[in-house]
Amino acid sequence: MKTLTVSVVTPDGQVLEDEYEMVSCKAETGELGILPGHIPLVAPLAISALRLKRNNEEHLVAVSGGFIEVRPDKVTVLAPSAERAEDIDVERALAAKERAEKRLAEQKDIDKVRAEAALQRALNRLEIARR
Ligand code: ATP
Repeated sequence: MKTLTVSVVTPDGQVLEDEYEMVSCKAETGELGILPGHIPLVAPLAISALRLKRNNEEHLVAVSGGFIEVRPDKVTVLAPSAERAEDIDVERALAAKERAEKRLAEQKDIDKVRAEAALQRALNRLEIARR
């Protein structure tokens, strides 16, 4: 089986670099499935799951947006933050979710866009940790 090198990088450092047979991600324009030999592209990512397939197993990584860069033999994801499913702290994500929901419910002059993004990051982590 042909593979691609997949690298996930954040400002805190590299989260993952390994070989996979297929990568699926959620670009802002829709789902992308990437196999070895894919044409080069760069696309912005949604707050979503990066799905990495190898040996009939799927590994999930939570990404908080950023970009995917595809080359025929390599996929690089540059994200503001990213965690492998097994590294997600569920308690922390639950606390972040509650904090964001409380902010959004208050009728104060808060930054709604920022609170909504924090809520999406927390929900994304919770969904990925649950799978
Ligand atoms: P919080 O309010 O809990 O910090 P956040 O969504 O604002 O959540 P980010 O700014 O996206 O957090 O990430 C900051 C750092 O914390 C990153 O290194 C990220 O990987 C890590 N991180 C955030 N939430 C979690 C979590 N639930 N489990 C593991 N790591 C997390």
